[in-house]
Amino acid sequence: MLKTVPRFKVNIDYEKCIKCGRCSENCTYGAITFDREQDKPLVKNNANCVSCQRCVLFCPKEAINISQYPVTYAPHGTWMPYYIRAINEQAETGGVLLSGMGNDMSYPMVFDYLVWDACQVTNPAIDALREPVETRTYLGRKSKNLHISEIEGKFELEDLPPNVVLSTPIVIGHMSLGSISYNAITAMYRAVKEVGTLMGTGEGGLHRDHYQFRSNLIGEVASGRFGVNSEYLECAALEIKIGQGAKPGHGGQLPGEKVNKLISETRGIPLGTDALSPNPQHDIYSIEDLKTLIAALHEASEYKVPVGVKIAAVNNVAAIASGIVRAGADFITIDGFRGGTGAAPRVIRDNAGIPIELAVAAVDQHLTEEGIRHEVTILAGGTLRSSSDLIKIIALGADVGMIATAPLIALGCKVCQQCPTGKCSWGIATSDPILAQRVDIEYGARRVVNLLRAWTHDLEEVLGTMGIDAVESFVGNRDRLRYLGPNPKEAEILGVKHAGDRLKLGSCAS
Ligand code: SF4
Ligand code: SF4
Repeated sequence: MLKTVPRFKVNIDYEKCIKCGRCSENCTYGAITFDREQDKPLVKNNANCVSCQRCVLFCPKEAINISQYPVTYAPHGTWMPYYIRAINEQAETGGVLLSGMGNDMSYPMVFDYLVWDACQVTNPAIDALREPVETRTYLGRKSKNLHISEIEGKFELEDLPPNVVLSTPIVIGHMSLGSISYNAITAMYRAVKEVGTLMGTGEGGLHRDHYQFRSNLIGEVASGRFGVNSEYLECAALEIKIGQGAKPGHGGQLPGEKVNKLISETRGIPLGTDALSPNPQHDIYSIEDLKTLIAALHEASEYKVPVGVKIAAVNNVAAIASGIVRAGADFITIDGFRGGTGAAPRVIRDNAGIPIELAVAAVDQHLTEEGIRHEVTILAGGTLRSSSDLIKIIALGADVGMIATAPLIALGCKVCQQCPTGKCSWGIATSDPILAQRVDIEYGARRVVNLLRAWTHDLEEVLGTMGIDAVESFVGNRDRLRYLGPNPKEAEILGVKHAGDRLKLGSCAS
């Protein structure tokens, strides 16, 4: 077998090491072993190290560090290590390369070319520490007209479509039990319940232990229909998954070795069988078909919950979104091409789809031009790295930002991209019940709650600096953004003016 150059090097400082063995116990990838004869930890194979940093953080003596492997490939402008490694792996395995955790290519981040405006002199800022700034928002269809009936002198609104109240315009995106561990998913379910927002179940159904969280869950209805039953339909909202950002046009994949008793019960499939959901929804080949499924879910859930549709951000996303609204969806979830996942073919993950920033701006403007924007809630995710990305995506036209990698990082994820191996040393992307214990549910939930609250506070502060007292007034407010990037076409698609653009002479005269 041809060896490949390791990416990382494990360095142990034996002068500091007290031979406690924590590093070897924590390493799930076989990079470090504890040699009983020599009574000390040894680097078994640098090539196995994925830089998950577990050993570094669990060493009580700071005796370990991980560095990039010093001997690297000869510099080459075309044949970069990304390609050489992939060729070697495929030459060895003959298979599709799977990876997790988001697009690996260095495409420009459109978010980083945007800045927002702030109040000065003529339009007063709001002091968010002393004055209220409303972050509450609603998920669901908005009525075109309000019908009011009078019954015995009392006035009542008729037939309001179901809406879910969110305390903050942040939801946690879909992650299924199986793709992540029981402890990780439970920690996040607890967090959204405490904060008063939602999380997506992913396509893996819902374990009975988690029924208690249904009023804070969006139940996904994916092409595999795993675990979709009448109890599942009691989630706060339902969402038909057409696509996801990490792998547009591709279904879900959970290898049989990950399908243990817990997962098989939850998904309603036999133990040890591969859970492969088809690429398309086999009953949806047109907007009319989609309309039928939306209507069926409305009916099955007794018209009590909003029904949405999730799509990947692709070239014609604006026209697709328009069709989805006309098919009767109450919300649309758009997932950008940098979105994370437990397992995606690398070739799709890194090359298919478009950035969420452009997709949301296009959809918001298109639906507004068609006069139907107000009818749906838009959720958008796929690399919201910070509260500033959240704020920018709202200004570009999303009602709600969707995050997933960020809360996983709060739980301990180091974005090492080894999720499909099931060996996650942090106990997150694994169905191994022993590894899962590495996530402390209570502590993990607290960290995710803190993250959601911190971003919400950031949002309040920033809205205050813009003199805006409610997040709903900020949705699609592109006028408060300015573009600082190199590409005027990009600014045009975003619908954002370049920074420093002066108002036309005379436009302020009145
Ligand atoms: S965890 Fe640190 S102190 Fe313990 S054996 Fe490993 S290197 Fe030595
Ligand atoms: S979930 Fe685990 S395996 Fe996946 S990127 Fe994070 S630390 Fe690595």
